[in-house]
Amino acid sequence: MTARMSALDSAQHQLAEAVKQLGLDDGMHQMLATPRRSLEVAVPLRRDDGTMQVLHGYRVQHNLSRGPAKGGIRFHPSTDLDEVRALAMWMTWKCALIGIPYGGAKGGVAVDPRLLSRNELERVTRRYASEIMPIIGPEKDIPAPDVGTDAQTMAWMMDTYSVNSGYTVTGVVTGKPVSIGGSEGRGGATSRGVMYAAFSALREAGVDHRGATVAVQGFGKVGGLAAQFLHDAGCLVVAVSDWKGGVYSSTGLNPAALRRHLDDGADTVVGFPGTDTITNAELLELDVDVLVPAALEGVIHEGNADRVRAFFVVEGANGPTTPDADAILEANNVLVVPDVLANAGGVAVSYFEWVQDLQAYFWTEDEVNAKLKLLMESAYDQVSVLAHERSVSLRTAAQMIGVGRVAEAHRTRGLYP
Ligand code: NAD
Repeated sequence: MTARMSALDSAQHQLAEAVKQLGLDDGMHQMLATPRRSLEVAVPLRRDDGTMQVLHGYRVQHNLSRGPAKGGIRFHPSTDLDEVRALAMWMTWKCALIGIPYGGAKGGVAVDPRLLSRNELERVTRRYASEIMPIIGPEKDIPAPDVGTDAQTMAWMMDTYSVNSGYTVTGVVTGKPVSIGGSEGRGGATSRGVMYAAFSALREAGVDHRGATVAVQGFGKVGGLAAQFLHDAGCLVVAVSDWKGGVYSSTGLNPAALRRHLDDGADTVVGFPGTDTITNAELLELDVDVLVPAALEGVIHEGNADRVRAFFVVEGANGPTTPDADAILEANNVLVVPDVLANAGGVAVSYFEWVQDLQAYFWTEDEVNAKLKLLMESAYDQVSVLAHERSVSLRTAAQMIGVGRVAEAHRTRGLYP
């Protein structure tokens, strides 16, 4: 069996395809393939029992040509520099695609947050924030939540940065609690965007979303609310999963009841009353209309792509489909709405949050959601038009728009010195 493609190999492969389609030269290709800065930091942690452990942390700024860098912070045991580099590159194309003035970044700590106490998690977050402080800031690089981090993580980062600066800097992170400068609507923004992207694709294909069957991999910040919003809009969410496995019900799940079940102390969706237990692998192969991978990268690969039976794959996660799998899905007429488009709602509302922080003037949730809907539908239309014009996939079209705008920024700024 051949080794599965890494996230970085996938990202580089996709970039090469966009570069070829756009006819960019080798020098520009190298410029776009190479992160501007990669910072690796030690994060020493004092455990609650008094022992010490040194964790590894990263922050990569892939591109800065269109504005400050922007991207999430991941706390996950398998996080490493190459994964963070791939995720940072995808952020660059995503920000350019949706027309917000940022470059891409990503960061992370190789740690399993589920194994740390709340106090330990706060110490890791604050130490990591201090270590990357020289390269972040509202005009330089603005972190946000990702896998294993949340609004509380952002609050600790914002506080650490502010205390060390000597004054309150709300704009240094996004995805903060509303009480300290967060935006209304940010918590559900990625998931709401996934729903808009899915509905745009269904509408274009002439499919009514009401009654459409949906399976969602990952019941975290993105997957949990995507399941909720899709259910509320009239879809039949038949399966969801998390790190431990999945649950299935042919008559549909109630995501709100499932959320309450977790809030009441269950550590997994598995075992939710009235459902059948399935594996994550089985969830990806269910006979549904829409599949939303919203957990980790590389889950749809050359080994299982042929068994995907959904008509639409809407990528809530970053990089869930490898290039080999893309080719198989395309051959099987499965429409993939790519990550840089489908999950862009998160960074879109992060941008709205940063703008509100800089202006110290805040918008209502209705205003935020209306701007998000417009932005997502416009991005989908641009990608779809180019895909038809050039007879390429939605992924290649989305990458072409993002990569093309970043290349244009480099050309216009020129090369220093
Ligand atoms: P999260 O930590 O809130 O949730 C992750 C979910 O995935 C959890 O339910 C977890 O149990 C599950 N999971 C973990 N390992 C798994 C495995 N091996 N198999 C199946 N499920 C597994 O993270 P999130 O913020 O929801 O991020 C999910 C994805 O969405 C990531 O790819 C992230 O980069 C992407 N994303 C997040 C945002 C955001 O705003 N949070 C924005 C854009 C994209």
